[in-house]
Amino acid sequence: MNPDDDRSGAPLPSGPQPAVDRRRFVENALKACAAGCPLILAAIRLPAAVAQGPAGQAGYDPTEHLYGMGIDIQRCIGCGRCVAACKAENDVPLDDHHFNTWVERYVIDDNGEVTVDSPNGGFDGFPQPDTESEIRRTFFVPKLCNHCANPPCVQVCPVGATFITPDGVVLVDDTYCIGCRYCIQACPYGARWFHPTKHVAAKCTLCYHRLVKGLVPACVEVCPTGARTFGEVEHRPTPLARFMRMNEVQVLKPHLNTRPKVYYANLDGEVR
Ligand code: SF4
Ligand code: SF4
Repeated sequence: MNPDDDRSGAPLPSGPQPAVDRRRFVENALKACAAGCPLILAAIRLPAAVAQGPAGQAGYDPTEHLYGMGIDIQRCIGCGRCVAACKAENDVPLDDHHFNTWVERYVIDDNGEVTVDSPNGGFDGFPQPDTESEIRRTFFVPKLCNHCANPPCVQVCPVGATFITPDGVVLVDDTYCIGCRYCIQACPYGARWFHPTKHVAAKCTLCYHRLVKGLVPACVEVCPTGARTFGEVEHRPTPLARFMRMNEVQVLKPHLNTRPKVYYANLDGEVR
């Protein structure tokens, strides 16, 4: 659960925002395309050079990598340091409903009842569970964009603003995003949110600006227990490849065929 109330498909904020002007332009372009002019749509798609990655880091070849993340549920203590680090690194608003990554707490009581909460996305950690029943089990589940290999958010974007890089990261080009929010509605993981001042769809970038420099995402770097692991998905000697060899991993909502690249170890069947 991402406690974001902005993905409801509500109208765009009022005021003469540039995104609205772009939206009008694109709506007109789409109408023209429907009338038989595909070149207009081609002109507003993301240029291939940009799709190689926004950082343009010298010497970095995105075709040589395929990134993902591993999360070991047994190691997560719900401290929320990952949530705070992500907000600081990626300039995510410091309020309680915009998150690139968040942590959910699952509390299972003696009757088998499951309660899930995520106060402030887990940013401040978690208070004692508010229940009168005996608690059988509690665990924490960090969540983020799954950087799906078959991402519905990319498929629905009418202007190619959401794209997948050759190294497997799903990004948004703010200069193309028209703020239509289709991607926010299409993501089955609640991983996207509407930026309140930029008026574009926002999401986890896997700290792309860091990984092109050989650094790991901020949430991975600060995790005190090593619950998060970053690296290459395919057979390369990185921490993630080791993590996937050593654990029986699962992804969230596998039946949707989105082919997520966030892999969980010790995931409980209760997790949605
Ligand atoms: Fe897109 Fe959601 Fe998949 Fe991320 S988790 S790639 S936002 S569909
Ligand atoms: Fe869990 Fe690590 Fe995040 Fe703390 S920093 S909540 S241990 S994933």
